[in-house]
Amino acid sequence: MDSTPARTHASLDSFVDRYAARTAGMTASEIRALFAVASRPEVVSLAGGMPNISGLPLDVVGGAINQLVLEHGPVAMQYGSGQGVPELREQITEVMRLEGIEAHPDDVVVTVGSQQAVDLVTRIFCDPGDVVICEAPSYVGALGVFRAYQAEVVHAEMDAHGLVPEALEQAIAAVKRAGRTIKFLYTIPNFHNPAGVTMSAERRQRVLEICRREGVLVLEDNPYGLLGFDREPLRAMRADEADNVIYLGSFSKTFAPGFRVGWALAPHPVREKLVLAQESATLCPPQFSQMAVSAYLATHDWQGQIKQFREMYRERRDAMVGALEDLMPAGCSWNVPDGGFYVWLTLPPGIDAKAMLPRAVTARVAYVPGTAFFADGYGSGAMRLSFCYPTAERIREGVRRLAGVLEDEIEL
Ligand code: PMP
Repeated sequence: MDSTPARTHASLDSFVDRYAARTAGMTASEIRALFAVASRPEVVSLAGGMPNISGLPLDVVGGAINQLVLEHGPVAMQYGSGQGVPELREQITEVMRLEGIEAHPDDVVVTVGSQQAVDLVTRIFCDPGDVVICEAPSYVGALGVFRAYQAEVVHAEMDAHGLVPEALEQAIAAVKRAGRTIKFLYTIPNFHNPAGVTMSAERRQRVLEICRREGVLVLEDNPYGLLGFDREPLRAMRADEADNVIYLGSFSKTFAPGFRVGWALAPHPVREKLVLAQESATLCPPQFSQMAVSAYLATHDWQGQIKQFREMYRERRDAMVGALEDLMPAGCSWNVPDGGFYVWLTLPPGIDAKAMLPRAVTARVAYVPGTAFFADGYGSGAMRLSFCYPTAERIREGVRRLAGVLEDEIEL
């Protein structure tokens, strides 16, 4: 559960003295260690953030892929452009238009999921010791990238309306006072992973204004923006600020993660550097996946599919929030997300989510301890609960088991 197996493994590793210094930051995330346990069928996993793609029309996808192979096989199975397939980049601009973004396909770089986009952006901007400002908490996968490039993460607080502008200003001032260089603000404005909150429209403007004034680039990571439950998508930050925002998108949650297709939309000069970085990393993003996603978008009512996903996730959110209200012991608190996959649960004082995890797994329920989402050891009194994958009944059962473990813990 903790890092013990990794440490044992490292001590047996005869290459240990030869690795680059940056590998010191490459440790298995708490989530990864959990996956093995949480995937046992008897465990209700409220841990992973796997999208539930069971509603996808496999016949449509299969038909599109079959046609792709038969009609365009030699192109689809060949190397392609480092920037990505032009037709898909065009379609991506249509997807982004749903959030108010007007962009040219030339400024889109296709990546291997938005995870690779985070990697490429960090690769072209961060030297060891540079600072990246992140929300507190922040996405575990991005923190891992920043660590791997030896960037230092400075957290800025969030509340129910997202990143707190005053906290951002204070963080920027403190870093500058210390003579350090801030390379960018990494933010997840919609249905935050893991906090579940959405940055209000007013906050977006203030954050953009602060970053412009302070010369801090904004990295807007938005894989969940189209998965709101109760309203139309909010306007992306990039829609109001083209010159100082790099926007990241993904088909992982609105279609399927297995294709590994995401993208970055960047100011022109940055786009050039991203393409060079992409070429050195992969030569080109997978042509076959890109063309398959493109065919899906061209032949299927993808917006109707997203609507179905939203309805499914809303039902699961309702199941989780209802179960929390009915079953959680006093002293716990949580937010009610209006989109995405996650609820952030704060525990009564004195209870350590990481220490409790082995007991929870014994009780056949898994979650991710809050510490995974902080670069600085905070978060032990909180956990992330995902409602995306299990059915409503399983979610309720999982929350029941978790409540039982917590009650025992409170009595101790
Ligand atoms: N950013 C955030 C906030 C995420 O939650 C995830 C996936 N969990 C990613 C990026 C990466 O997604 P992908 O590479 O599948 O596009």
